[in-house]
Amino acid sequence: METHIDQIKAEAVDELKAADDIEQIKSLSVKYLGRKGLVTLFLRNISQLPPDQRPAAGKQANIVKKALESAFETALAEISARKTDTGSDALDVSLPGRPACQGTLHPITHITRQICAIFGRMGFDIAEGPEIETDYYNFEALNIPKNHPARDMQDTFYVSDNIVLRTHTSPIQVHVMEQNAPPIRIVAPGKVYRCDSDLTHTPMFHQVEGLLVDEKVSFGDLKGVLQAFVHEIFDEQISLRFRPSFFPFTEPSAEVDILCVMCRGKGCKVCSNTGWLEVLGCGMVHPAVFENVGYDTSRFQGFAFGMGVERLAMLKYGINDLRMFFESDYRFLRQF
Ligand SMILES: [Zn+2]
Repeated sequence: METHIDQIKAEAVDELKAADDIEQIKSLSVKYLGRKGLVTLFLRNISQLPPDQRPAAGKQANIVKKALESAFETALAEISARKTDTGSDALDVSLPGRPACQGTLHPITHITRQICAIFGRMGFDIAEGPEIETDYYNFEALNIPKNHPARDMQDTFYVSDNIVLRTHTSPIQVHVMEQNAPPIRIVAPGKVYRCDSDLTHTPMFHQVEGLLVDEKVSFGDLKGVLQAFVHEIFDEQISLRFRPSFFPFTEPSAEVDILCVMCRGKGCKVCSNTGWLEVLGCGMVHPAVFENVGYDTSRFQGFAFGMGVERLAMLKYGINDLRMFFESDYRFLRQF
């Protein structure tokens, strides 16, 4: 009889192992532990055993009963836990993996690299400089002495009387020329700062500055280089026009307009119906700047140009709000 109850237990355990839903487990529970279950019947029949076998058989049968009760309970708990898991956010190993989100370059970084790459193909090296500058590098060396009216053109953040947050990337030119003899061909990308904040201005923005110094450099070279650049960053249908302008560090100076990339000259909101967009400033390096860095002005000439990166990015990608570059909105940034 004792071996019989062990046999019942072994069968129950095997069947339970094979069961994989709640209904199966419940019916097994009835089969073994129900009112007419095998274990129940065994217990009921103990009274028919010879008296000396009854205590041992009863004890063993109760152990088996308890063991099976707990095994069924555990099996039911496990199965219902698995059922809830698939419906909730718990780990389901059968789901396909979620790919990790990969970052993208910020549009400003993207276009800065594009600009540098275009000039790189024309033989320009990349130069960088400090964002905190002395008054000398930001102004004086660039032919903007103290009390010069040109200082009013740029609303400067002063750190102290003599230290400023650079208002343009032009000081990099001076550093490069102080440390290198001509010929020089550099583009200098970087952040610049001005006390200015409204719909179209932010206190920090990005510029790319260019400088070329050599013998026999003419305004024609400047036009050729800028035209090649504009054609490559936009397309070859975009024409340029040079308007006389004034910068203290170049003479002559010009503003460069390109044909409106939105309306192709027909006139639209972006170009204020003029058909043209102002994109950069340029000119031949002023002899006073060369004298400040000790270059021989009778032998060397050069040209310089500077452009706002945000402005170019807005035109290239058709973005109409400058603030979008600085809001870190994922929906905006992921498009680049
Ligand atoms: Zn237009």
